[in-house]
Amino acid sequence: MTESRQRVTVLGSTGSIGVNTLDVLARHPDRFTVFALSGHSRIDLLFTQCLAHQPEFVVATEPHAAAQLQSRLAAAGSQTRVLLGHEALDEVAAHPDVDMVMAAIVGAAGLSSCIAAARAGKRLLLANKEALVVGGAFFMDVVRAGNATLLPIDSEHSAIFQSLPTDRVLWPSVVDKIILTASGGPFRTRDPATLSQVTPAQACAHPNWSMGRKISVDSATMMNKALEVIEAKFLFGLDPSRIDAIIHPQSVVHSMVQFVDHSVVAQLGVPDMRGPIAYGLSWPQRIASGTTALDFSAMTGLSFETFDSPAHRARFPGLRLAWDALRSAPGTTAVLNAANEIAVAAFLDTRIRFDQIHAVNQATLEGFAVGAPGSLPDILALDEEARAYAQQLVRGFAR
Ligand code: NAD
Ligand code: MG
Repeated sequence: MTESRQRVTVLGSTGSIGVNTLDVLARHPDRFTVFALSGHSRIDLLFTQCLAHQPEFVVATEPHAAAQLQSRLAAAGSQTRVLLGHEALDEVAAHPDVDMVMAAIVGAAGLSSCIAAARAGKRLLLANKEALVVGGAFFMDVVRAGNATLLPIDSEHSAIFQSLPTDRVLWPSVVDKIILTASGGPFRTRDPATLSQVTPAQACAHPNWSMGRKISVDSATMMNKALEVIEAKFLFGLDPSRIDAIIHPQSVVHSMVQFVDHSVVAQLGVPDMRGPIAYGLSWPQRIASGTTALDFSAMTGLSFETFDSPAHRARFPGLRLAWDALRSAPGTTAVLNAANEIAVAAFLDTRIRFDQIHAVNQATLEGFAVGAPGSLPDILALDEEARAYAQQLVRGFAR
């Protein structure tokens, strides 16, 4: 019985995607067992998750948190072993006893553990889009060399994956373009001239999705869509000119594929990440996800709006940086991601204004020279240098 269950490591289990993943896993105790969890903060939640799911290992990336967790688990008589630090993330991602890894850490901090899972040939469920944006072609090479199975968890990419033919050899010849949908975020109708005044709380108040703070800010600037364009390029191997984005405020159509005959296949559902998570966990089968069904009788309409209007270009100047970065030297997408992580953190700390996030991203892309990274250490060094460059720009802007 136990041997037939899939053993899952959930990296970033205390985050929004992590919590949703554990919710889906708990619905299928006959199919899955939790091998390892990880968290950076929110130790109370990590402790509760350990008691509920009884993993073999739990990784705490902060020393203080690890010590606290260790004593609390010991006092509770738990068998779960506590590991400390980022190297331990790689260990539980690549461990021989693991079948699947949910990569749900936010930012480039998750790259190394994704690479470790891919090298070890795991089924890698990728929510952590920044890891692929940073790792780029190198990441995809490791997936191929490791014979890993990379499945998208981002709702748009899951939708595209569900809409494409099963035989990926066909993709380049049958796809005309893929169309990523975007809700438009909290500022879709806001006067662009007032974006300099928005607060972190306003930027994090997403109309349709409940998510972590970093991706919420990215959804407000539309950098989330820019990262997703880059993610799509690497996942599906399409030329950037075949990737498009459109606003769809209801978030019911999760994305679409237009084929060369102009037939369009879309995937629909309620905006609930447990849908794509359950698909990644069960592919090519399907399992119950816990989401509600779409109620077509209650739907008042599905609308779409182009990004290509003067108002949206002014509101969301960051979107086009995706194509700029993809057309530049390899490694430029890592630089864009590094700048954006620094800028978003500075905005959430109220050190820069909302509109200055784009200024930092653009100035870093323009001012920072990129050498082509060929290995994980190269990529991590590039990430660090680009962060330092962006940090300096932030200090220049600081109020
Ligand atoms: P979150 O902030 O809610 O959770 C992030 C997780 O990563 C937490 O467990 C946190 O402890 C851990 N973490 C943070 N910094 C870390 C570090 N330096 N080292 C190790 N662990 C660290 O974020 P989220 O909303 O769950 O998003 C996770 C990833 O999934 C992001 O890449 C995001 O873009 C992507 N994603 C999220 C959603 C969503 O609906 N939330 C949808 C699509 C994609
Ligand atoms: Mg998405």
